[in-house]
Amino acid sequence: MPKERIMEIRRKNCSPMTMKITYYKKPVFLHQGYMQWLWDFDGNRYLDLFAGVATVSVGHCHPKVAAALQRQLKKLWHTTNIYVNPTLHEYSEKLASHLPDPLKVVYLTNSGSEANDLAMLMARLHTGNFDLLTLRGSYHGGTQQTMGLTSNSSYKYPIATSSGCTNTMCPDVFRGPWGGSHCRDSPVQTTRQCGCAQGHCMANDQYIGQLKETFATSVPSRIAGFFGEPIQGMGGAVQYPKNYLKEAYQLVRERGGVCIADEVQTGFGRTGSHFWGFQGHDVLPDMVTMAKGIGDGFPMGAVVTTPEIAASFAKAYHFNTFGGGPLACAVASSVLDTIKEDGTQQNSHNVGTYLMTELAKLRDTYEIIGDVRGKGLQIGVEMVTNKASRDPLSPEAMSEIFEDIKDMGVLIGKGGVYGQAFRIQPPMCITKEDVNFFLAVFKKAIQRYMDRK
Ligand code: PMP
Repeated sequence: MPKERIMEIRRKNCSPMTMKITYYKKPVFLHQGYMQWLWDFDGNRYLDLFAGVATVSVGHCHPKVAAALQRQLKKLWHTTNIYVNPTLHEYSEKLASHLPDPLKVVYLTNSGSEANDLAMLMARLHTGNFDLLTLRGSYHGGTQQTMGLTSNSSYKYPIATSSGCTNTMCPDVFRGPWGGSHCRDSPVQTTRQCGCAQGHCMANDQYIGQLKETFATSVPSRIAGFFGEPIQGMGGAVQYPKNYLKEAYQLVRERGGVCIADEVQTGFGRTGSHFWGFQGHDVLPDMVTMAKGIGDGFPMGAVVTTPEIAASFAKAYHFNTFGGGPLACAVASSVLDTIKEDGTQQNSHNVGTYLMTELAKLRDTYEIIGDVRGKGLQIGVEMVTNKASRDPLSPEAMSEIFEDIKDMGVLIGKGGVYGQAFRIQPPMCITKEDVNFFLAVFKKAIQRYMDRK
Protein backbone atom coordinates (compact mmCIF):
# COMPACT_ATOMS: atom_id res chain seq x y z
CA MET A 1 0.00 0.00 0.00
CA PRO A 2 1.51 3.38 -0.98
CA LYS A 3 2.38 5.78 1.84
CA GLU A 4 -0.06 8.44 0.62
CA ARG A 5 -2.90 5.91 0.80
CA ILE A 6 -1.91 4.88 4.33
CA MET A 7 -1.96 8.51 5.45
CA GLU A 8 -5.34 9.03 3.77
CA ILE A 9 -6.83 6.11 5.71
CA ARG A 10 -5.16 7.34 8.87
CA ARG A 11 -6.82 10.75 8.41
CA LYS A 12 -10.25 9.32 7.57
CA ASN A 13 -10.62 6.10 9.53
CA CYS A 14 -8.26 6.35 12.50
CA SER A 15 -8.50 8.40 15.68
CA PRO A 16 -7.53 12.04 14.97
CA MET A 17 -4.92 11.72 17.73
CA THR A 18 -3.03 9.11 15.70
CA MET A 19 -2.09 11.93 13.31
CA LYS A 20 -0.45 13.72 16.23
CA ILE A 21 1.41 10.73 17.54
CA THR A 22 3.26 9.63 14.48
CA TYR A 23 6.15 10.76 16.69
CA TYR A 24 8.15 12.29 13.83
CA LYS A 25 7.35 15.16 11.44
CA LYS A 26 8.10 12.73 8.65
CA PRO A 27 6.60 9.49 10.03
CA VAL A 28 8.58 6.27 9.92
CA PHE A 29 6.67 3.72 7.84
CA LEU A 30 7.77 0.45 9.40
CA HIS A 31 8.02 -2.61 7.26
CA GLN A 32 10.00 -5.17 9.16
CA GLY A 33 12.02 -5.83 12.29
CA TYR A 34 14.76 -8.17 13.43
CA MET A 35 16.38 -8.08 16.89
CA GLN A 36 17.55 -4.46 17.46
CA TRP A 37 16.91 -3.43 13.84
CA LEU A 38 13.92 -1.98 12.01
CA TRP A 39 13.48 -1.32 8.29
CA ASP A 40 11.14 1.18 6.66
CA PHE A 41 9.26 0.91 3.36
CA ASP A 42 12.16 2.49 1.48
CA GLY A 43 14.64 -0.07 2.78
CA ASN A 44 16.29 2.30 5.29
CA ARG A 45 17.59 0.53 8.36
CA TYR A 46 17.20 1.96 11.87
CA LEU A 47 18.88 0.98 15.10
CA ASP A 48 15.91 0.78 17.46
CA LEU A 49 16.87 2.25 20.82
CA PHE A 50 13.32 2.77 22.01
CA ALA A 51 11.64 -0.57 21.30
CA GLY A 52 8.23 1.14 21.24
CA VAL A 53 8.68 2.23 24.88
CA ALA A 54 10.59 -0.80 26.16
CA THR A 55 7.99 -3.05 24.57
CA VAL A 56 10.31 -5.33 22.67
CA SER A 57 12.45 -7.02 25.29
CA VAL A 58 14.60 -9.77 23.75
CA GLY A 59 14.51 -8.54 20.13
CA HIS A 60 12.12 -7.86 17.24
CA CYS A 61 10.80 -11.14 15.81
CA HIS A 62 13.31 -13.01 17.97
CA PRO A 63 13.66 -16.41 16.24
CA LYS A 64 13.04 -18.41 19.44
CA VAL A 65 9.95 -16.40 20.36
CA ALA A 66 8.62 -16.43 16.79
CA ALA A 67 9.08 -20.23 16.69
CA ALA A 68 7.15 -20.64 19.95
CA LEU A 69 4.32 -18.52 18.54
CA GLN A 70 4.26 -20.54 15.34
CA ARG A 71 4.12 -23.83 17.25
CA GLN A 72 1.16 -22.60 19.30
CA LEU A 73 -0.60 -21.11 16.23
CA LYS A 74 -1.05 -24.58 14.87
CA LYS A 75 -2.43 -25.97 18.14
CA LEU A 76 -4.94 -23.71 19.87
CA TRP A 77 -5.82 -20.04 20.20
CA HIS A 78 -9.12 -20.20 22.02
CA THR A 79 -10.04 -18.52 25.33
CA THR A 80 -8.72 -20.64 28.16
CA ASN A 81 -10.67 -19.03 30.97
CA ILE A 82 -13.64 -21.38 30.80
CA TYR A 83 -11.68 -24.45 29.69
CA VAL A 84 -8.38 -25.76 30.92
CA ASN A 85 -5.22 -25.74 28.83
CA PRO A 86 -1.62 -26.26 29.95
CA THR A 87 -0.21 -23.02 28.45
CA LEU A 88 -1.68 -20.70 31.11
CA HIS A 89 -0.59 -23.01 33.91
CA GLU A 90 2.92 -23.59 32.60
CA TYR A 91 3.38 -19.86 32.19
CA SER A 92 1.86 -18.87 35.54
CA GLU A 93 4.19 -21.25 37.35
CA LYS A 94 7.21 -20.07 35.37
CA LEU A 95 6.43 -16.38 35.91
CA ALA A 96 5.79 -16.92 39.63
CA SER A 97 9.17 -18.65 39.93
CA HIS A 98 10.77 -15.33 38.92
CA LEU A 99 9.19 -13.52 41.88
CA PRO A 100 10.04 -13.75 45.57
CA ASP A 101 7.64 -15.23 48.14
CA PRO A 102 4.79 -14.52 48.81
CA LEU A 103 4.20 -13.08 45.30
CA LYS A 104 2.88 -16.27 43.76
CA VAL A 105 -0.66 -15.70 42.44
CA VAL A 106 -0.77 -14.65 38.78
CA TYR A 107 -3.57 -12.81 36.94
CA LEU A 108 -3.04 -12.47 33.20
CA THR A 109 -4.37 -9.50 31.25
CA ASN A 110 -3.94 -8.02 27.77
CA SER A 111 -2.23 -4.73 28.62
CA GLY A 112 -0.53 -2.68 31.31
CA SER A 113 -3.54 -0.40 31.81
CA GLU A 114 -5.70 -3.42 32.41
CA ALA A 115 -3.17 -4.83 34.88
CA ASN A 116 -3.05 -1.57 36.85
CA ASP A 117 -6.82 -1.25 36.74
CA LEU A 118 -7.06 -4.70 38.27
CA ALA A 119 -4.42 -3.86 40.89
CA MET A 120 -6.41 -0.74 41.88
CA LEU A 121 -9.50 -2.85 42.42
CA MET A 122 -7.59 -5.48 44.39
CA ALA A 123 -5.93 -2.87 46.61
CA ARG A 124 -9.31 -1.32 47.42
CA LEU A 125 -11.05 -4.63 48.05
CA HIS A 126 -8.23 -6.03 50.16
CA THR A 127 -7.72 -3.02 52.39
CA GLY A 128 -11.31 -1.79 52.54
CA ASN A 129 -9.88 1.67 51.88
CA PHE A 130 -10.23 3.81 48.79
CA ASP A 131 -7.43 6.29 48.33
CA LEU A 132 -4.44 5.60 46.12
CA LEU A 133 -1.19 7.51 45.80
CA THR A 134 1.17 7.86 42.85
CA LEU A 135 4.16 10.02 42.02
CA ARG A 136 3.84 13.07 39.75
CA GLY A 137 5.08 12.51 36.23
CA SER A 138 4.12 8.84 36.28
CA TYR A 139 2.18 6.91 33.65
CA HIS A 140 0.12 3.95 34.80
CA GLY A 141 -2.44 3.65 32.04
CA GLY A 142 -5.05 5.29 29.85
CA THR A 143 -8.33 3.72 31.03
CA GLN A 144 -10.72 5.95 32.92
CA GLN A 145 -9.63 4.40 36.23
CA THR A 146 -5.88 4.35 35.63
CA MET A 147 -5.98 7.89 34.24
CA GLY A 148 -6.36 8.97 37.86
CA LEU A 149 -3.07 7.27 38.70
CA THR A 150 -1.30 8.71 35.66
CA SER A 151 0.16 12.10 36.43
CA ASN A 152 0.90 13.87 33.17
CA SER A 153 -1.55 16.45 31.79
CA SER A 154 -1.05 15.32 28.19
CA TYR A 155 -2.86 12.09 29.09
CA LYS A 156 -5.67 13.61 31.12
CA TYR A 157 -9.15 14.33 29.73
CA PRO A 158 -11.51 16.95 31.16
CA ILE A 159 -13.76 14.39 32.82
CA ALA A 160 -14.01 12.85 36.26
CA THR A 161 -11.44 10.06 36.21
CA SER A 162 -11.08 7.65 39.09
CA SER A 163 -11.70 9.57 42.27
CA GLY A 164 -9.48 8.88 45.24
CA CYS A 165 -6.20 9.14 43.33
CA THR A 166 -3.64 11.62 44.60
CA ASN A 167 -0.40 12.42 42.79
CA THR A 168 2.32 13.37 45.25
CA MET A 169 5.75 14.96 44.63
CA CYS A 170 8.16 12.89 42.61
CA PRO A 171 11.52 12.69 44.38
CA ASP A 172 13.44 13.60 41.24
CA VAL A 173 17.05 14.10 42.27
CA PHE A 174 17.86 16.21 39.21
CA ARG A 175 14.83 18.44 38.77
CA GLY A 176 13.48 18.37 42.33
CA PRO A 177 14.32 21.21 44.71
CA TRP A 178 16.81 19.29 46.87
CA GLY A 179 19.14 17.59 44.40
CA GLY A 180 20.61 14.31 45.53
CA SER A 181 24.12 13.67 44.30
CA HIS A 182 25.35 10.11 44.99
CA CYS A 183 21.89 9.15 46.16
CA ARG A 184 20.48 7.26 43.24
CA ASP A 185 21.09 3.70 42.19
CA SER A 186 22.80 4.29 38.85
CA PRO A 187 26.32 4.04 37.42
CA VAL A 188 25.98 7.78 36.76
CA GLN A 189 25.21 10.32 39.47
CA THR A 190 23.65 13.76 39.18
CA THR A 191 25.76 16.88 39.23
CA ARG A 192 23.48 18.30 41.91
CA GLN A 193 24.72 18.19 45.46
CA CYS A 194 22.32 17.62 48.34
CA GLY A 195 24.72 17.76 51.25
CA CYS A 196 24.83 14.02 51.90
CA ALA A 197 26.38 13.23 55.25
CA GLN A 198 28.12 9.87 55.71
CA GLY A 199 25.92 7.98 53.32
CA HIS A 200 22.75 9.56 54.65
CA CYS A 201 20.79 11.30 51.91
CA MET A 202 19.57 14.66 53.11
CA ALA A 203 17.45 15.10 49.98
CA ASN A 204 15.62 11.86 50.73
CA ASP A 205 14.55 13.24 54.12
CA GLN A 206 13.06 16.25 52.33
CA TYR A 207 11.23 14.18 49.71
CA ILE A 208 9.87 11.85 52.40
CA GLY A 209 8.82 15.00 54.27
CA GLN A 210 6.73 15.92 51.23
CA LEU A 211 5.09 12.50 51.26
CA LYS A 212 4.28 12.95 54.95
CA GLU A 213 2.75 16.31 54.12
CA THR A 214 0.56 14.63 51.49
CA PHE A 215 -0.56 12.15 54.13
CA ALA A 216 -1.33 15.00 56.51
CA THR A 217 -3.22 17.12 53.98
CA SER A 218 -4.59 15.23 51.00
CA VAL A 219 -5.77 11.73 51.89
CA PRO A 220 -7.72 10.09 54.72
CA SER A 221 -5.76 8.50 57.56
CA ARG A 222 -6.28 5.03 56.02
CA ILE A 223 -5.42 4.46 52.39
CA ALA A 224 -5.70 1.62 49.86
CA GLY A 225 -2.25 1.78 48.36
CA PHE A 226 0.67 3.32 46.56
CA PHE A 227 1.70 2.75 42.93
CA GLY A 228 5.29 3.46 41.97
CA GLU A 229 7.54 2.64 39.03
CA PRO A 230 11.03 1.65 40.18
CA ILE A 231 12.38 4.09 37.56
CA GLN A 232 9.79 6.48 36.20
CA GLY A 233 9.61 5.71 32.48
CA MET A 234 7.35 8.29 30.85
CA GLY A 235 8.81 10.89 33.23
CA GLY A 236 12.13 10.39 31.43
CA ALA A 237 13.80 7.58 33.41
CA VAL A 238 13.50 9.60 36.61
CA GLN A 239 15.22 8.05 39.61
CA TYR A 240 14.60 8.58 43.28
CA PRO A 241 17.07 8.67 46.17
CA LYS A 242 18.06 5.15 47.18
CA ASN A 243 15.90 4.78 50.29
CA TYR A 244 12.85 6.67 49.07
CA LEU A 245 10.71 3.69 48.07
CA LYS A 246 11.68 1.75 51.18
CA GLU A 247 10.59 4.54 53.49
CA ALA A 248 7.52 5.33 51.37
CA TYR A 249 6.40 1.66 51.52
CA GLN A 250 6.66 1.74 55.30
CA LEU A 251 4.60 4.93 55.58
CA VAL A 252 1.96 3.49 53.22
CA ARG A 253 1.72 0.25 55.19
CA GLU A 254 1.44 2.14 58.49
CA ARG A 255 -1.71 3.70 56.97
CA GLY A 256 -3.21 0.36 56.00
CA GLY A 257 -2.22 0.54 52.32
CA VAL A 258 -0.59 -2.00 50.01
CA CYS A 259 2.37 -1.24 47.76
CA ILE A 260 2.29 -1.86 44.04
CA ALA A 261 5.39 -1.88 41.84
CA ASP A 262 4.56 -0.97 38.24
CA GLU A 263 7.17 -2.97 36.33
CA VAL A 264 5.60 -2.40 32.91
CA GLN A 265 8.83 -0.78 31.70
CA THR A 266 11.43 -1.86 34.24
CA GLY A 267 10.71 -5.59 34.52
CA PHE A 268 12.22 -8.63 32.83
CA GLY A 269 15.85 -7.75 33.45
CA ARG A 270 15.82 -4.29 31.89
CA THR A 271 17.55 -2.67 34.86
CA GLY A 272 20.40 -5.16 34.51
CA SER A 273 21.33 -5.69 38.15
CA HIS A 274 18.01 -7.36 38.93
CA PHE A 275 15.18 -9.09 37.15
CA TRP A 276 12.69 -6.63 38.69
CA GLY A 277 13.27 -2.94 39.25
CA PHE A 278 11.88 -3.06 42.79
CA GLN A 279 14.73 -5.39 43.82
CA GLY A 280 17.14 -2.52 43.28
CA HIS A 281 15.25 -0.58 45.96
CA ASP A 282 15.40 -3.41 48.49
CA VAL A 283 11.61 -3.52 48.87
CA LEU A 284 9.01 -6.25 48.60
CA PRO A 285 5.77 -5.05 46.99
CA ASP A 286 2.36 -6.58 47.68
CA MET A 287 1.57 -6.55 43.97
CA VAL A 288 3.67 -6.33 40.83
CA THR A 289 2.10 -5.20 37.56
CA MET A 290 3.74 -5.88 34.22
CA ALA A 291 3.16 -5.67 30.45
CA LYS A 292 5.14 -4.59 27.35
CA GLY A 293 8.39 -6.61 27.57
CA ILE A 294 6.49 -9.57 29.04
CA GLY A 295 5.49 -10.56 25.47
CA ASP A 296 8.37 -9.04 23.46
CA GLY A 297 5.75 -7.04 21.54
CA PHE A 298 2.86 -9.49 21.81
CA PRO A 299 -0.09 -7.92 23.71
CA MET A 300 -0.08 -9.11 27.29
CA GLY A 301 -0.03 -7.94 30.89
CA ALA A 302 -0.10 -9.41 34.39
CA VAL A 303 -0.62 -8.75 38.05
CA VAL A 304 1.23 -10.97 40.48
CA THR A 305 0.17 -10.79 44.10
CA THR A 306 0.02 -12.65 47.38
CA PRO A 307 -2.43 -15.48 48.25
CA GLU A 308 -3.89 -13.21 50.94
CA ILE A 309 -4.77 -10.41 48.49
CA ALA A 310 -6.00 -12.99 45.96
CA ALA A 311 -8.37 -14.35 48.64
CA SER A 312 -9.84 -10.88 49.23
CA PHE A 313 -10.39 -10.55 45.49
CA ALA A 314 -12.21 -13.89 45.22
CA LYS A 315 -15.56 -12.44 46.33
CA ALA A 316 -16.92 -12.19 42.76
CA TYR A 317 -16.07 -13.68 39.39
CA HIS A 318 -13.23 -12.01 37.56
CA PHE A 319 -13.41 -12.87 33.88
CA ASN A 320 -11.11 -11.90 31.05
CA THR A 321 -11.76 -13.57 27.67
CA PHE A 322 -8.28 -13.22 26.23
CA GLY A 323 -6.10 -12.64 29.32
CA GLY A 324 -3.65 -15.54 29.45
CA GLY A 325 -4.71 -16.97 26.08
CA PRO A 326 -2.58 -19.78 24.64
CA LEU A 327 -0.75 -17.59 22.10
CA ALA A 328 0.22 -14.96 24.66
CA CYS A 329 1.32 -17.60 27.18
CA ALA A 330 3.41 -19.49 24.62
CA VAL A 331 5.13 -16.27 23.60
CA ALA A 332 5.66 -15.02 27.15
CA SER A 333 7.00 -18.39 28.25
CA SER A 334 9.51 -18.32 25.43
CA VAL A 335 10.48 -14.75 26.40
CA LEU A 336 11.40 -15.93 29.92
CA ASP A 337 13.46 -18.81 28.48
CA THR A 338 15.16 -16.49 25.99
CA ILE A 339 16.12 -13.94 28.66
CA LYS A 340 17.93 -16.79 30.41
CA GLU A 341 19.45 -18.45 27.34
CA ASP A 342 20.63 -15.23 25.68
CA GLY A 343 22.00 -13.70 28.90
CA THR A 344 19.73 -10.70 28.24
CA GLN A 345 19.74 -9.31 31.77
CA GLN A 346 23.54 -9.40 31.98
CA ASN A 347 23.74 -7.73 28.57
CA SER A 348 21.41 -5.01 29.82
CA HIS A 349 23.75 -4.40 32.71
CA ASN A 350 26.97 -4.44 30.67
CA VAL A 351 25.86 -2.47 27.63
CA GLY A 352 23.67 -0.10 29.66
CA THR A 353 26.49 0.75 32.06
CA TYR A 354 28.85 1.39 29.15
CA LEU A 355 26.29 3.60 27.39
CA MET A 356 25.51 5.64 30.49
CA THR A 357 29.19 6.12 31.32
CA GLU A 358 29.87 7.38 27.80
CA LEU A 359 26.78 9.61 27.83
CA ALA A 360 27.97 11.15 31.10
CA LYS A 361 31.14 12.23 29.26
CA LEU A 362 28.95 14.00 26.70
CA ARG A 363 26.99 15.57 29.57
CA ASP A 364 30.24 17.00 30.88
CA THR A 365 31.08 18.35 27.41
CA TYR A 366 27.81 19.87 26.24
CA GLU A 367 25.96 22.63 28.10
CA ILE A 368 22.57 21.39 26.89
CA ILE A 369 22.88 17.89 28.36
CA GLY A 370 21.76 18.40 31.95
CA ASP A 371 21.52 14.89 33.29
CA VAL A 372 22.16 11.28 32.37
CA ARG A 373 20.48 8.64 34.50
CA GLY A 374 18.97 5.22 34.73
CA LYS A 375 20.03 1.64 35.20
CA GLY A 376 20.73 -1.09 32.68
CA LEU A 377 18.83 -0.27 29.52
CA GLN A 378 16.30 2.11 31.09
CA ILE A 379 18.08 5.38 30.39
CA GLY A 380 17.13 9.06 30.34
CA VAL A 381 19.07 12.03 29.01
CA GLU A 382 17.66 15.31 30.26
CA MET A 383 18.14 18.27 27.94
CA VAL A 384 18.34 21.82 29.30
CA THR A 385 18.90 25.32 27.94
CA ASN A 386 21.90 25.53 30.27
CA LYS A 387 23.18 23.68 33.28
CA ALA A 388 22.83 26.55 35.73
CA SER A 389 19.12 27.21 35.17
CA ARG A 390 18.16 23.59 34.35
CA ASP A 391 15.34 25.07 32.24
CA PRO A 392 13.98 22.36 29.94
CA LEU A 393 15.10 22.53 26.33
CA SER A 394 12.15 23.70 24.20
CA PRO A 395 9.93 21.14 22.44
CA GLU A 396 11.04 22.63 19.08
CA ALA A 397 14.72 22.15 19.89
CA MET A 398 14.05 18.63 21.19
CA SER A 399 12.23 17.84 17.97
CA GLU A 400 15.07 19.13 15.78
CA ILE A 401 17.63 16.92 17.51
CA PHE A 402 15.27 13.96 17.66
CA GLU A 403 14.46 14.17 13.93
CA ASP A 404 18.13 14.50 13.03
CA ILE A 405 18.97 11.38 15.06
CA LYS A 406 16.25 9.48 13.19
CA ASP A 407 17.53 10.73 9.83
CA MET A 408 20.95 9.35 10.76
CA GLY A 409 19.39 5.92 11.39
CA VAL A 410 18.62 5.71 15.11
CA LEU A 411 15.23 5.69 16.84
CA ILE A 412 15.09 6.93 20.41
CA GLY A 413 12.20 8.16 22.57
CA LYS A 414 11.11 11.38 24.22
CA GLY A 415 9.58 11.91 27.64
CA GLY A 416 9.54 14.02 30.77
CA VAL A 417 6.78 16.26 32.06
CA TYR A 418 7.99 19.04 29.73
CA GLY A 419 9.03 16.68 26.93
CA GLN A 420 12.62 17.52 27.87
CA ALA A 421 14.18 14.06 28.17
CA PHE A 422 15.42 11.64 25.56
CA ARG A 423 14.69 8.04 26.45
CA ILE A 424 16.75 5.01 25.57
CA GLN A 425 15.01 1.68 26.20
CA PRO A 426 16.11 -0.63 23.38
CA PRO A 427 15.57 -4.30 22.78
CA MET A 428 17.97 -5.76 25.34
CA CYS A 429 20.09 -7.50 22.70
CA ILE A 430 21.99 -4.36 21.62
CA THR A 431 25.77 -4.47 21.53
CA LYS A 432 28.62 -2.09 22.38
CA GLU A 433 29.09 -1.53 18.64
CA ASP A 434 25.48 -0.33 18.42
CA VAL A 435 26.15 1.97 21.35
CA ASN A 436 29.23 3.42 19.66
CA PHE A 437 27.19 4.07 16.52
CA PHE A 438 24.49 5.82 18.55
CA LEU A 439 27.01 7.92 20.48
CA ALA A 440 28.54 9.17 17.22
CA VAL A 441 25.05 10.01 15.89
CA PHE A 442 23.96 11.70 19.12
CA LYS A 443 27.12 13.77 19.31
CA LYS A 444 26.70 14.89 15.71
CA ALA A 445 23.04 15.83 16.24
CA ILE A 446 23.87 17.87 19.36
CA GLN A 447 26.80 19.55 17.64
CA ARG A 448 24.72 20.38 14.57
CA TYR A 449 21.99 21.86 16.77
CA MET A 450 24.55 23.99 18.66
CA ASP A 451 26.09 25.16 15.37
CA ARG A 452 22.68 26.20 14.03
CA LYS A 453 21.85 28.21 17.12
N1 PMP B 1 2.53 1.48 33.24
C1 PMP B 1 3.61 2.01 32.66
C2 PMP B 1 4.82 2.29 33.50
C3 PMP B 1 3.63 2.26 31.28
O1 PMP B 1 4.71 2.78 30.72
C4 PMP B 1 2.49 1.94 30.51
C5 PMP B 1 2.46 2.20 29.01
N2 PMP B 1 3.21 3.22 28.54
C6 PMP B 1 1.39 1.40 31.16
C7 PMP B 1 1.44 1.17 32.52
C8 PMP B 1 0.13 1.05 30.39
O2 PMP B 1 0.39 -0.03 29.56
P1 PMP B 1 -0.51 -0.29 28.25
O3 PMP B 1 -0.18 0.76 27.24
O4 PMP B 1 -0.11 -1.68 27.83
O5 PMP B 1 -1.93 -0.24 28.68
